[in-house]
Amino acid sequence: MLNRIKSFISGKGKKQQPAYQRQVIPRDQHTVSRSLISDPAKKVLSRLNKAGFEAYLVGGGVRDILLDGRPKDFDVATDATPEEVRDLFRNSRMIGRRFRIVHVLFGREVIEVTTFRGNAADADDESDDDRRANEHGLLLRDNVYGSMEEDALRRDFTVNALYYSLEDFSVIDFTGGVEDLRQRRLTLIGDPETRYREDPVRMLRAIRFAGKLDFTLAPATEAPIRELAPLLTHIPSARLFDEVLKLFSAGHGAATYDLLLEYGLFAPLFPATAAALEAGEPDGVIRQALANTDRRIAQGKSVTPYFMYAALIWPALQAEWKRRQDDGEPAQPALHGAINDVIGEQVKATAIPRRFSGPMKEIWELQMRLPRRNGKRAFATLSHPRFRAAYDFLLVREAAGEDTEGLGQWWTDFQQTDERGQERMLSELAPAGARNSKRRRRRRKPQTKA
Ligand code: ATP
Ligand code: MG
Repeated sequence: MLNRIKSFISGKGKKQQPAYQRQVIPRDQHTVSRSLISDPAKKVLSRLNKAGFEAYLVGGGVRDILLDGRPKDFDVATDATPEEVRDLFRNSRMIGRRFRIVHVLFGREVIEVTTFRGNAADADDESDDDRRANEHGLLLRDNVYGSMEEDALRRDFTVNALYYSLEDFSVIDFTGGVEDLRQRRLTLIGDPETRYREDPVRMLRAIRFAGKLDFTLAPATEAPIRELAPLLTHIPSARLFDEVLKLFSAGHGAATYDLLLEYGLFAPLFPATAAALEAGEPDGVIRQALANTDRRIAQGKSVTPYFMYAALIWPALQAEWKRRQDDGEPAQPALHGAINDVIGEQVKATAIPRRFSGPMKEIWELQMRLPRRNGKRAFATLSHPRFRAAYDFLLVREAAGEDTEGLGQWWTDFQQTDERGQERMLSELAPAGARNSKRRRRRRKPQTKA
């Protein structure tokens, strides 16, 4: 087994990596306090232990507690097989195609239990059907069980490969994760290029943790990203959608966006937006929406993925809408065509579930309805189920510098005043005919002036 670890560490003999050494940090030398571990997580650990299995808290739970943070969720690693785990917990289900995992459910809390996984030298073994890579080095299957050490070495970053034992309250570190935590540094385990090729999503995880934890990337971990970024196009679009949501809803979306741009990772995720930005379309709406999202998360408010996505694709929509109008299409059908085009393009990169693409379209379409307020139109728009999101989106556009001729303030006032006030506001609007001709003239100019 030692050989297998060694050959893995040395990147199948291609590149030299530091030899990792197991370190045990006893309870009085670390800050993991049991009180920060949820009761369900403790229950899962102790029941596995009582049944004679090894079981540890691992991943973000240990990392975040050591950083004095509140973990988002708890992951458990064990030498019990998924079947054995499932048999121990009535409230559990087996999930996963890439790897089989058991989810143990406690009300709304889910404890993810994974069996120690190995891999290492087996990747070269033709007879091994459980671990296969394609010609780009992408792992297609990764289902081999292994020892705890092997499990540590196939995790992504050293700070994510720390194990906490509830039997003796020690932290076990195979890869120097404790030191990296101290240095606030993300180091990919093993040979970075090999590990990114195996799973290009690790590049996104590097950016996500750097943004969220305010960590730096170790030089060797950082070096290959720009060149390997295009490998993301090999990842199933549904997985990328999930990753994008995680990237932008961890409370540091604005910083994360900058990092994605810096490392060339934004373009494979949002090709049409990247092309529009390249062609000079501004990204103020994206930045503003992400800053708002970060603020909402800091205030403990919910965030809606479709709002975020509507902003992330806005530059592409603007570019396509303009192009169609320059080709002579009238504004309304040009908008509909552009909406269908950009969504059609985007789902090739990251899937967008229908429950999100529907509301996105509505937010965009309402941007064109918001200026049309005459007669009963304002009331119809106000009672649209997506009015609130569309109004917020309008404010984001204004905050980003788009000139909407005070439309946001008008709608703010319109919502706050009483019925008589609303009637007065409507009567003060210019007559429909005059407004229409004005609008038509205006729309020939570029939509975005930010
Ligand atoms: P979060 O706070 O977002 O939950 P996390 O580190 O717990 O962060 P998870 O996605 O919950 O991230 O994954 C749990 C653990 O599984 C990680 O800490 C890491 O050890 C391992 N892991 C997850 N994804 C990968 C991957 N793509 N490659 C290697 N190891 C991974
Ligand atoms: Mg986690």
